[in-house]
Amino acid sequence: MATPVHPPHHAGVAPGGREATTLRGFFGVFRYSRRALELVWSTNRALTLALALLTLIAGILPASVAYVGALIVDAVVGAIRAGGGVATRVAQLVVLEGILVAAIAAAQRGLSLCQSLLRAQLGQRVNVMILEKALTLELQHFEDSEFYDKLTRARREASTRPLSLVTRTFGLVQNGISLVSYGVLLARFSPWAVAVLLLAGLPAFVAEAKFSGDAFRLFRWRSPETRMQIYLETVIAREDHAKEVKLYGLGPRLLERYRDIFRRLYREDRALTVRRDAWGFALGLIATAALYGAYAWIAVTTVRRLITLGQMTMYVALFRQGQAAVSAMLAAVGGMYEDNLYLSTLYEYLETNVPQPAGTAVRGPHPEDGVRFEDVSFSYPGAEESALEHVTLHLTPGTSLALVGENGSGKTTLIKLLTRLYAPTAGRILLDGQDLAQWDERALRERIGVIFQDFARYQMLVGENVGAGDERFFEDEARWRTAAAKGRASEFIETLPSGYRTQLGKWFRDGRELSGGQWQKIALSRAFMRIRADILVLDEPTAAMDAQAEAEVFEHFRQLARERITILISHRFSTVRMADQIAVLNRGRIVERGSHEELMQLNGRYAQLFTLQARGYR
Ligand code: ADP
Repeated sequence: MATPVHPPHHAGVAPGGREATTLRGFFGVFRYSRRALELVWSTNRALTLALALLTLIAGILPASVAYVGALIVDAVVGAIRAGGGVATRVAQLVVLEGILVAAIAAAQRGLSLCQSLLRAQLGQRVNVMILEKALTLELQHFEDSEFYDKLTRARREASTRPLSLVTRTFGLVQNGISLVSYGVLLARFSPWAVAVLLLAGLPAFVAEAKFSGDAFRLFRWRSPETRMQIYLETVIAREDHAKEVKLYGLGPRLLERYRDIFRRLYREDRALTVRRDAWGFALGLIATAALYGAYAWIAVTTVRRLITLGQMTMYVALFRQGQAAVSAMLAAVGGMYEDNLYLSTLYEYLETNVPQPAGTAVRGPHPEDGVRFEDVSFSYPGAEESALEHVTLHLTPGTSLALVGENGSGKTTLIKLLTRLYAPTAGRILLDGQDLAQWDERALRERIGVIFQDFARYQMLVGENVGAGDERFFEDEARWRTAAAKGRASEFIETLPSGYRTQLGKWFRDGRELSGGQWQKIALSRAFMRIRADILVLDEPTAAMDAQAEAEVFEHFRQLARERITILISHRFSTVRMADQIAVLNRGRIVERGSHEELMQLNGRYAQLFTLQARGYR
């Protein structure tokens, strides 16, 4: 086998050495069967029971058909020897066999019916489980690429995989039962024949299980490559990237990368597949040899008149069907690694540890104190440099703060901390004199209204896009209108074909696309939905408006927000200067702070940047 690309994860060799690895490879195929069964059982008990019962029936019936078949042949032979005549017994037996065969067909139908019903229920159940978990996750989970990858993969095959594993497991059991029932009948011929039947298939079975286990591990190592492939597919084939990919002619290069990854993975796959099939063939030969050996043995025994012709037919049929059952089991095991792969992702995702927010406070001891940052530092998980260092700030109700600084200086991070999307690495943030960590999550979020620069553009009704600002009034048209008027969006909304009920976005029929500036007005209106929020944050949501409009919006905001704290992030100094306080951030530190006049007098970085921009406008 080719060396795996990611040897670090390769440390799968058990202390027990080779034997243990082989054994683990073998049982590995079943590692998620129990959990899949539990999942199915808890989804619908009646259907699961029916599935189990039908599996049992479908497992036993084939042997009884073979048995009746033998009786028929013997009855016919007996009737001929007796000189022909009435063959009532033969007719009865034939009818019986017909009934049994019909019962097999019924059981198979029943199985597939149960499976279809369960598939639908299970798919829905797993999808809901995934989404419910997603609601409890924190922002940092979504920003963690590996985690996000797990989430997408878990979602992609949620509707088919769990049931598929169960179907395969049940299929194994069914064939196993058949095999045992064949064995019981065969034992009357010779216990050795039973041993041959079971043992001949065993090596191939073990090998298949082991290779499946190997494939399972191989596929898990390569998840980053697969993720890159999926990403490239998205970039090449999705509308939001199409513009740039076309204009810059990136297509062929990206496609080449895509091919490269495939070639690399293919080499590994090929090695494994070739090994698997070579072994499968060799071990399969043993099984065939055993079958024909047994055939000869049975035939010779018949010639010696030790068994009847009918018994011979039965034993040969048993052997053949036994072999077929073994093959079916091999195929089931071969497919199980993919299902396991899926379930391992699913359970890793579902079992992600999410710390429960512990805070319970719904108000603070000093409402007049507003927001305080006390020596706050923060680094993103896994990042080496800190994004904020020793930030100290105080904002009383009724004041406005503008944050200024280059890209990456930490402005948005500061807002993420204020909204408790992340917790400070050091220092603390207080609201109304109460540490943010002690606030009840809901109460805290109700206090703060934020519009990020990358605010969400929901492909829903215009009105709902506004209503999203306050979940309780998501569908309240009167409130949409008031908020839209404040956010200066009502004018253009009224010109839309269905007004507030116009569908937005390209995903749905009759969806309208808005311009960047129009979207921003929607986002502003969304902020005005939060009439109860007393901290309003605008993180560059007005960048697509012209300078004049932005200044007006901010002024408007300040007026409406007399008792509130307003925080603005902007690169436009014409707007920034209107704030009561301005903080200049540089590489995570506040380097200057004061009013516009104070900072101009200081003649530092702010003054320099301000003059630079003012000159541009002159
Ligand atoms: P600004 O809003 O001032 O442009 P940010 O607060 O977004 O800057 O970013 C500050 C620093 O933190 C940057 O160096 C950026 O690379 C880093 N950063 C931002 N978001 C993340 C994130 N989700 N994970 C890791 N690092 C981040």
